[in-house]
Amino acid sequence: MSEPDHTQSTSTGAGSDHNEIRKNTQLFNEQRYDAVAGVENYEDYRTRAREIKADAIDRLPDLIERTRRAVEANGGSVYVAEDAADATQHIEGLLAEEDAESVVKSKSMTTEEIHLNDALESADVDVWETDLGEFVIQVAQEEPSHIVGPSLHISREEITELFEAEFDPDERLDSAEKLTEFAREYLGERIEAADVGITGANFVLAESGSIALVTNEGNARKCASIPDTHIAVGGIEKIIPSIEELHPFGELLSRASTGQDITQYLSILTPPVETPAFDFDGAEDPTMSEAGADRDFHLVLVDNGRTAMREDEDLRETLYCIRCGACANSCANFQSVGGHEFGGETYTGGIATGWEAGIEGLDVAGEFNDLCTGCSSCVNACPVKIDIPWINTVVRDRLNHDAEPDYSDVLVDGLVPDEEPSGTPLQKRFFGNFETVAKLGSATAPLSNAVAGTGLARKAMDRFLGVDARRDLPTFERTTLVEWARNRTAQVTDPERRVVLYPDVYTNYVQTERGKAAVRVLEALGCSVTVPSVAGSGRAPLSQGMLSTARSKARTVADTLGEYVADGYDVVVVEPSDYAMFQREYEKLLPESAYDSLADGSYEIFEYVYGLLENGADGDALPGADGAGVAYHSHCQQRTLGVETYTEAVLADLGYDVVTSDAECCGMAGSFGYKSQYYDISMDVGADLAAQFDPVADERTVVASGTSCIEQLDSLLRAETRHPIQLLDRN
Ligand code: SF4
Repeated sequence: MSEPDHTQSTSTGAGSDHNEIRKNTQLFNEQRYDAVAGVENYEDYRTRAREIKADAIDRLPDLIERTRRAVEANGGSVYVAEDAADATQHIEGLLAEEDAESVVKSKSMTTEEIHLNDALESADVDVWETDLGEFVIQVAQEEPSHIVGPSLHISREEITELFEAEFDPDERLDSAEKLTEFAREYLGERIEAADVGITGANFVLAESGSIALVTNEGNARKCASIPDTHIAVGGIEKIIPSIEELHPFGELLSRASTGQDITQYLSILTPPVETPAFDFDGAEDPTMSEAGADRDFHLVLVDNGRTAMREDEDLRETLYCIRCGACANSCANFQSVGGHEFGGETYTGGIATGWEAGIEGLDVAGEFNDLCTGCSSCVNACPVKIDIPWINTVVRDRLNHDAEPDYSDVLVDGLVPDEEPSGTPLQKRFFGNFETVAKLGSATAPLSNAVAGTGLARKAMDRFLGVDARRDLPTFERTTLVEWARNRTAQVTDPERRVVLYPDVYTNYVQTERGKAAVRVLEALGCSVTVPSVAGSGRAPLSQGMLSTARSKARTVADTLGEYVADGYDVVVVEPSDYAMFQREYEKLLPESAYDSLADGSYEIFEYVYGLLENGADGDALPGADGAGVAYHSHCQQRTLGVETYTEAVLADLGYDVVTSDAECCGMAGSFGYKSQYYDISMDVGADLAAQFDPVADERTVVASGTSCIEQLDSLLRAETRHPIQLLDRN
């Protein structure tokens, strides 16, 4: 099965649009951090919001019926559309009943999903988007590039050019204010003249038949109340029981999306609204009728695959999404390529895989699914705690299972030790079976390293496995960490604590020096250290969507380490991505008891060192630094788990002057940056980190916690990067 080509996707490949995307998404992020920091019980709101959505999706059929009863009692109608065609036909019918020739719309992703504008334009209805971003997109004849900011990829200067070419205004529209003023007047006239207003619905309240609209421009309210017919279109998942449940979303949505403490307009309407109908045609007072008279309201609830998603154990969580866009903003790859690349027919960013797989099908999701590296940066950003990387992984697994085998699979199937179906792309199988590659590479080193480094081998790897020839390959060590530890005399005979150092694949076969340093540091702090032979955590196969293989590895690891934990050992992990497997992904892969035991009994290396020092271990046993400079880049998974601060704290306590990068990702993200089709994106993402560390790399020791971060920094800076535990090692 061939992989989508993303080689021309980055700022280097596609020009200034991508600079706008990076600038705007990073600005949203900065604002979100500030807005969230100001709310003491933000986590409580997230928990509550998730509970409400989970409950609402559980009770969805009942809530749809309650909504129907309430809206009809208010004088409106409800239609549940099976799919996009059903929804657009119904809306066209409603417009025909009204003899409607013109429609104004407020921003609605659901109407994008059902391609409503195309359908209405084909029916000769004049349609105007009134949200400024959507209006820009409409004039530009493009697709939205972001769930919240549809025209986020277009600069202000480009909008000026666009508007001037399209509208030939009397004066130059060379500022944001002038553009906004022009759009307001232009669209205001169209709102006044429109026969029907169509809005989305951020939330539908079943008990009262109300809809809640969260906007910053106020045009949704105008679309709902100025034309005398209002049609609201929303997915069936937008229903929550009542206004009682709305509060947490009011606290979360604007903070998560644009970093605003409060949105400009939160309109809760119970249509048909009581506002008098208007007639602007020449009348001095456009108020035409008595309050509430001559008004119609139609609620169109769109299924379009959602019922099937609800019944799908893994895609179901997608329906909790409140479309804030934070997962896109927090994603370094999205910042690099934007939603036209990192998105499907309608939805963009991390959660788009779930939406597109459920609505459009696996093929559409497969076009961009691999752009998710599973770094987990979006996990803490999501206001309803959706496990977005897991949804992406499950879809990747399904794509592997869906792929048609070809002749090469017959050759490969018998040679690889994984549990995957024929048709799984060769590139994925190579990276997913890296443990086997590393075992072989180590057993035959240094010959393996010499052969792999030849030009011929690199060309072949690039062509057949998609390993980019511009990347330095890992150098395998002949003596593994496990072998080194086995041949060593124990240094601590009366230990304070007994530790099992987990020999992850990289630390065992490639970066053995950081493993040896970890052993010596733990011994210096009074621990006995055992390094048993344990299987890879399953991170490599998981990252390729090879779920059966990952699950099998997880079982093996949990069995081996579980015995040590039961025996009173602490499990210490050097590689953050493997530590994250124990803390997060194993919850999905293992029975609860096995997961709990390992999650409770395992520690990231600096988390553990910090704990030892806090509990009385002798810090003088470690070398002091006397103000030496360190530039530190933490790993995405450490940040998600909130353990990156331990490294900074320990280094600072030892006297290091630590500068920490605030780059969201190094760009390598496991195997991602090694893949030929993603090399450019990987380097583009890494540019932020390089910009921070390049100027200080000569004066500071550069350290990073993750294997792939170390490899990437080596490439970006052309200087040696180490794991920070090596700074604590007296050897
Ligand atoms: S998945 Fe979460 S972060 Fe992403 S758009 Fe939906 S609610 Fe927002």
